[in-house]
Amino acid sequence: MPTSFQRHVKKGIEYYTISSFEETGLVIHGFSGKSGGVSDGAYNSLNLSILTEDKLEHVLENRRRFARVLGIDPACLVGAHQVHRDTIYKVTLKDKGRGAFDPESVIPATDALMTNEPGLALTAFFADCVPVFFLDPVKKVIALAHAGWKGTVAKIAAKTVKALAEAYGTEPQDLLVAIGPSIGPCHYEVDRPVIEKVKEAFPEYWESLITGLKEDGHAQLNLWQANFYQLVDTGVLPENITLAEVCTYCHQDRLFSHRGGMAGRQAAIIMLK
Ligand SMILES: [Zn+2]
Repeated sequence: MPTSFQRHVKKGIEYYTISSFEETGLVIHGFSGKSGGVSDGAYNSLNLSILTEDKLEHVLENRRRFARVLGIDPACLVGAHQVHRDTIYKVTLKDKGRGAFDPESVIPATDALMTNEPGLALTAFFADCVPVFFLDPVKKVIALAHAGWKGTVAKIAAKTVKALAEAYGTEPQDLLVAIGPSIGPCHYEVDRPVIEKVKEAFPEYWESLITGLKEDGHAQLNLWQANFYQLVDTGVLPENITLAEVCTYCHQDRLFSHRGGMAGRQAAIIMLK
């Protein structure tokens, strides 16, 4: 498996890009770190979510800064209210700017966005949950999914592959997919009810996804592999899946971690040129 996320620092803003996506020349994309923004306290400093208790003007300034570094207009952003379910929304030109500058216009109750329209910057927000980026370089379509444990057992990544096939004729074997920085198996301890859901969702794989079972019934969950396996099961080629293998909890100097007690959110952004 390739581990080719590239780390960059520009104008004090740290962010990551996916080499396989960059090489296609089809998209502008990135996953932000937490440095280089203007927010303070638990949001210090590049909080990019408009749906937190952070000051709106701080978030908008942070978005302007990250958008400038990526070379996109912040008015192109399209974001949703993420609710840990498996709804996938087809973004079209009429959605341009939804959630870009105000919380009222966000797309409601949606955890994955997809589009074939250039110039729409699909955006999703993360602190420990798993960002899953999709690019079909043949049909020229993109998607972005938000997968915490609930989204992962609901198979939102696999459902996004199917939605791309239905909406745009994407062949799974053409897809490039990347699983970004998020909480790793090193720090993602879960309890019995979560473990049961993982067993139900992944009867063939759960033994490799859940490790280090403790006397209190808690164990470590590997969300990266759970998403990897469900993607491969839909026909995505293993060699086309990039895993960042960067744990947000381990890297709280650079990334927001909800379990680490921080309230800011990094953003995943992807836009067809
Ligand atoms: Zn860790």
